[in-house]
Amino acid sequence: MAEMNSGDFKAYGKQLIDWIAEYLDYPERYPVLSQVKPGEIKSQLPAAPPAAPEDFATVLRDFEDIVMPGITHWNNPAFMAYFGITGSLPGILGELLTAGLNVNGMLWRTSPSATELEEVVMAWLRQMVGLPETFTGVIMDTASISSLIAVAAAREALNLRIREEGMAGRSDLPRLTMYTSEQSHSSIEKGGIVLGIGQHNIRKIEVDAEFRMKPDCLAAAIEADRRSGGVPFFACATVGTTSTTSIDPVPAIADICGRERVWLHVDGAYGGNAAVVPEMRWVLQGVERADSFVLNPHKWMFTPIDFSAFYTRHVDTLKRAFSILPEYLRTAEGDAQAVTNFMDYGVQLGRRFRALKFWFMVRSFGVDGISERIREHIRLAHVFEGWVRATSGWEVVAPVPFSTVNFRACPPGVPEEKWNELNERVLNAVNATGEVFLSHTKLHGNYVLHLAIGNIRTEEKHIARAWELLKAERGRLSADASLSRNLPA
Ligand code: PLP
Repeated sequence: MAEMNSGDFKAYGKQLIDWIAEYLDYPERYPVLSQVKPGEIKSQLPAAPPAAPEDFATVLRDFEDIVMPGITHWNNPAFMAYFGITGSLPGILGELLTAGLNVNGMLWRTSPSATELEEVVMAWLRQMVGLPETFTGVIMDTASISSLIAVAAAREALNLRIREEGMAGRSDLPRLTMYTSEQSHSSIEKGGIVLGIGQHNIRKIEVDAEFRMKPDCLAAAIEADRRSGGVPFFACATVGTTSTTSIDPVPAIADICGRERVWLHVDGAYGGNAAVVPEMRWVLQGVERADSFVLNPHKWMFTPIDFSAFYTRHVDTLKRAFSILPEYLRTAEGDAQAVTNFMDYGVQLGRRFRALKFWFMVRSFGVDGISERIREHIRLAHVFEGWVRATSGWEVVAPVPFSTVNFRACPPGVPEEKWNELNERVLNAVNATGEVFLSHTKLHGNYVLHLAIGNIRTEEKHIARAWELLKAERGRLSADASLSRNLPA
């Protein structure tokens, strides 16, 4: 029994392409943040699968009626929470073909084009952000996995026979220690947890007033660990931290790591993308000296999720950490030296053909087109920053090097101890309108609003509307009896 005849496939396929095109022409028709209650989607779906085939038109109707209300629209130009992800039309077409071909690029011969296109686009991206040829690139799903891979390679570089003998019960194995800043992404710590380093051996280095890792504190922490018998082996600097988008001083950190023989990984998951813009190239200063580096085109380079670009200068170490060759995956002698088998470069064997969507995107936009759009996002962030700075009772709480602004309401009419509550309530009220979606973070214990621009369709009118709503809600809430200075809480 065929799963669907090719006539129906063509008809539904055309219908769905039309649907996607219309959806993307006007994603604002839906509330940006899904308004459903927990469990609401599940409650409308049968708990057991259908025994008999169902008509595809019925399935699509349920998609519209049941699934769509539970979608938070990352494609909405007013999605400004976290770091936005948006695809692009060429990227979506790439995903479609990837699904159609459905190749598994685990070995070169299981699809030479999947492997070789990956090598080509990773070399393109390397040039686009100005990294030297010494870096070899591999596509991973997410930055979390890229950074985990970096920790694994760094651990292998210690030559402690961990691959062979493991870590448990070994009296000859020293305590391994890792370093990252207080502001780095939780994935770095997670990588250390997964690889048996232990949370207590992961140092979160202090940051300065602009949320950048303090190199002297890094050096001191490394020295303290060495004195107490630890073996410092891995440090992660971040270009564009998750909360404030601060840029760690990579050149100074690279000096320390070089001297101390510590593997330096740079997490540029978000901020690294900005280096495509020629005048932003400086953000990757010093990264050429890193041992590994990650940036996510799915965060800010118009590539549909997932696509994380992992680079290392030590591809042999990476392969030593991950290569394992059962007979059934062996490549014929003649080809073995000539080809790349990406199964040797990470945890997974099976690999999606991710290079295709990126290749479509770069060729459709051109590097200049990508750069222009990212430059515009940075400009919009500075416009928004200017509005906040120019308005009394509001403050910008961190520098704005990229396209993200952290700010808060601090109206003199509301006592300072109520500002956290006020900002949280402003955020909830603004998000409840369904018109925009912002997120928050905490800095020095203060509740801070976080507006990040990364959507290909975001224009000045969208940030203006967000600002209007924020001001209106703050005005309304500042007059609230429970927050006002004059009335008891
Ligand atoms: N690194 C940084 C700096 C991030 O901001 C994020 C997510 O926002 C990550 C890593 C994790 O990214 P992913 O979802 O690709 O694992």
